[in-house]
Amino acid sequence: MLIQILNAVGKHVKDLPTIPQFIKNGKSIICYNALLSGCAEHLCKFKDGHVPMAEIMDKFADAVCELLQPGVKWMIDNCSA
Ligand SMILES: [Zn+2]
Repeated sequence: MLIQILNAVGKHVKDLPTIPQFIKNGKSIICYNALLSGCAEHLCKFKDGHVPMAEIMDKFADAVCELLQPGVKWMIDNCSA
C-alpha cells in the first residue's frame, strides 16, 4: 500500500523523511511499514529500522504525514475497495 501511495504522487521511499540515528551508509534503514503499522516483522529485511515510539519526534511524524497525505487522498479518490 505504501508504494502505491507514493507512486500516486510521483514519490519514492527514498523521498520519505529520515531520522539521523536510522541512517546507515547514507541510506535510511527505517522500516516505514512498521512505522505506519503493518510489518510482518519475522520476515522484515529492515528489522534494525523498527523505530521505537520514543524516538519518533513530532517533526518527523508531521513530515511523513505531509509527504503521504496527497497520495492517500489520491488513493481515496481514485481506488475503490
Ligand atoms: Zn519491518
